[in-house]
This record gives sequence, C-alpha cells and structure tokens, in this order.
Amino acid sequence: MKRIVIKVGSAVLREGSALALQRLNNLVDLISKLKNEKKYEVILVSSGAVAAGNITLNLDKTNILNRQVLSSIGQPLLMKHYKKRFSQYNIKCAQMLLVAEDFDSRKRSKNVQEVMEILLKNNIIPIINENDVIANEELLFGDNDQLAAHCAYFFKADMLVILSDIDALYDENPNINTNANILKNVNFIKEEDLQMKHSANSEFATGGIVTKLKAAHFLMQKNIPMYLSSGFNLENVYDYLLEDKHNSGTLFQKQG
Ligand code: GLU
Repeated sequence: MKRIVIKVGSAVLREGSALALQRLNNLVDLISKLKNEKKYEVILVSSGAVAAGNITLNLDKTNILNRQVLSSIGQPLLMKHYKKRFSQYNIKCAQMLLVAEDFDSRKRSKNVQEVMEILLKNNIIPIINENDVIANEELLFGDNDQLAAHCAYFFKADMLVILSDIDALYDENPNINTNANILKNVNFIKEEDLQMKHSANSEFATGGIVTKLKAAHFLMQKNIPMYLSSGFNLENVYDYLLEDKHNSGTLFQKQG
C-alpha cells in the first residue's frame, strides 16, 4: 500500500464568511475512498485554522498575534468538522500540531515519526497543521505547503498531493493571461522561480504558487513526486489516484 500526504489549503476550506463545509466533506469522502479501497495510507495536512477562527472572531489577520489567537479558536472547529464527517465512514482521526523544530532535531523528529507510525498502524487518519499558536519566527514554516513537503519526506510518503485554489502550474500567470497553458509534467524548477515574491490568492492563505514550487523543489531532491490539483473540483485527483489517469493538474517529478 502506498503512503500519501494530502495537503488542503485555506482558500479551499473557506467560502465568503463561512467554512466551505461541502468542500471539507468532499475531501473526507475522497480520503475515505482511498483508504477503504486499501490503495493508500493517508496523512492529511490541513490549513484553515485562521480562516475558521475568523468566522467566530473578527480580528485583523495581518497582525501575527491575532493570527495566533484566531488559529487557537479555529483549529478545534476544523477538527470538529473533520471528525464528524470521518465518523460517517467509521474512520477515526487525530490531530498533530507541528513546528519546524520538530523536523530539525533528530530526537524530536524520531519521536514524531514514532507517533505517526502508531497512528497509521491503528488505521487513524492523522490531521496535521502548523502549531500556529506557539510558532514564533524561529519555529515557523510559515506555510503549510512546505510543512506538507517535510511531512512527506519525514513520514516516508510515496507522494505529496496538494489540493489548492491553484489547479496546476501554468506556463504563464493564468490570472493575467487567459491563454496560459497547464504544465502537466515538471521535472525542473528554475532558481529564479523559487525567488519570486509570495502571492497567495486568498486573504487567509499564506502560500501561493511560489510556496508550492518550493515544496516541489524540496521533494524533487528527495525523489518524492508531488501532484498539484484543484481542491474545488476533485475529479482530477480522483482520476489520478484511483484510476491512474493524469487528465490535468501538475506532476512534479525528478527525471530518471
Ligand atoms: N496554518 C495556517 C492555518 O491553518 C495556514 C498556513 C497556510 O496558509 O499555509 O490557518
């Protein structure tokens, strides 16, 4: 059985002034199917704590302390919804809040790895987020794309799947050029592309295409493929993971 990390972004989980519960449920349905068909062991990395917290309390999100407060309110809300939907499939889930330091020190990463193995062995879906409340600058990944890439590597996954408001990598910015084409296979990322300024499309997301390229770049060096696809419409990811059909979305993979 293959092990995959699936990462979902804040923009997918928030719609206007509410949580996008239908999309969250669709994601849980996908994971349950992957699991029940015994094809994959799944680790979920979910953003959306700040976005969920902001539904309860309207604080200025540009302030880091406020973001930490909002994530402490939103994280249990997110978990409540995941737990509810997973329970319809009789699947249990668990929360793991991590910071960059957990992957820095060998002792800490070994500990987290051991916890992960026990969870997976017991058929529990681990749901990971950055521990925003305690993540100060030194401890911070800053975006869950790179956190998810580290999870894929440290938890020995066969692949990272990013489900985002960006449905693929394009040859030009699709927001500016409507004729931009999807790049279905990418096996090299230019250094200058990694240096571009972050530009998240959603007000709740920290990432954007650059953090996805950084995640893909990190994983290419470790020989772990990454598939980027839409989190709004899951048709392509279903086809890719369950039917082996790469209709759309971008597969980042080192050549050879
Ligand atoms: N950890 C943040 C949250 O859950 C999001 C980080 C990101 O957007 O990548 O709200």
